[in-house]
Amino acid sequence: MEQASRWFYGPGRFYRYLRDPVTVSGWRARLLATSAFAISVEWLADARMTAREPGMIIIDRSVHTLLAHWRRVIFVDWHGVLSRDPFWMSILDGNHPLKSRLEANLAQIFSRDVPTAHEWMRGQLSSAEIISAMDIKLGRHYRDDFLQRRLDVDCRRMRVNVELFEILRVLRARALIVIATDNMDCFARAFDCVRSRARRSPETALTLTDWAIFCDDIVCSSDVGRLKSEDPDGFFGPWLSAHGLSFADALLIDDRADNCEVFARRGGYAVQWKMGTNQISEVTKAVERWMDVPTGS
Ligand SMILES: [Mg+2]
Repeated sequence: MEQASRWFYGPGRFYRYLRDPVTVSGWRARLLATSAFAISVEWLADARMTAREPGMIIIDRSVHTLLAHWRRVIFVDWHGVLSRDPFWMSILDGNHPLKSRLEANLAQIFSRDVPTAHEWMRGQLSSAEIISAMDIKLGRHYRDDFLQRRLDVDCRRMRVNVELFEILRVLRARALIVIATDNMDCFARAFDCVRSRARRSPETALTLTDWAIFCDDIVCSSDVGRLKSEDPDGFFGPWLSAHGLSFADALLIDDRADNCEVFARRGGYAVQWKMGTNQISEVTKAVERWMDVPTGS
């Protein structure tokens, strides 16, 4: 909306000034001309930026207002592919006084014997409910919301697979890049939060905060209420149809075999790839093979 208003008012003010400059007083004419000039320069800069991004018209920084002309999307898993950092890393990765109690609680939550982690990932449980159920007694010098704040901050500081992100950044000229993750409300919140900030230089950056801006969107199980492997149509379908795409236009990079299998069964192209295990060349070769296949076939 902000961008659209610039597009309209920049040329509009110029036209207004040129149409009838003698009807306004001297200082008002100068003010109007200066304003028109500044906004028009900004408008031209925006138009130049738009021309640099092939196949894309920027109306707003949000992907929901991008008019994508691409016919391809690359879905990229988060945990195991783009990062390996756990929640509450600043507490778990050191000698924090709460470390042992937090570890014991997390082991229980992520145990295969209980559905808690999946319910958290489907958005049936919130981070606040999980923290409340942990019932970790905090000392007097902690704020009541200490664990919630640490969770949110640590999500934003998760270290990323810079090598893969560099490749995705280049591929973004040829396909939409969308994080597709079975993940919790805190992660989706962190992603949205850091993407709304100004672009940063990726040269020395290592965290989600630095790289989220190079993704076009996120599909998170806590938002769609379904996990990738249990309901691929429910997970990917709404995003694909909202963007006029199908599974045949999509590639998934994921470290789990079951996610890749169901995605391929639905007509998508999937590559199983795990950070720290597979070579980066395996993902680049798979992407090149996929790029050679006509979309929608
Ligand atoms: Mg994974």
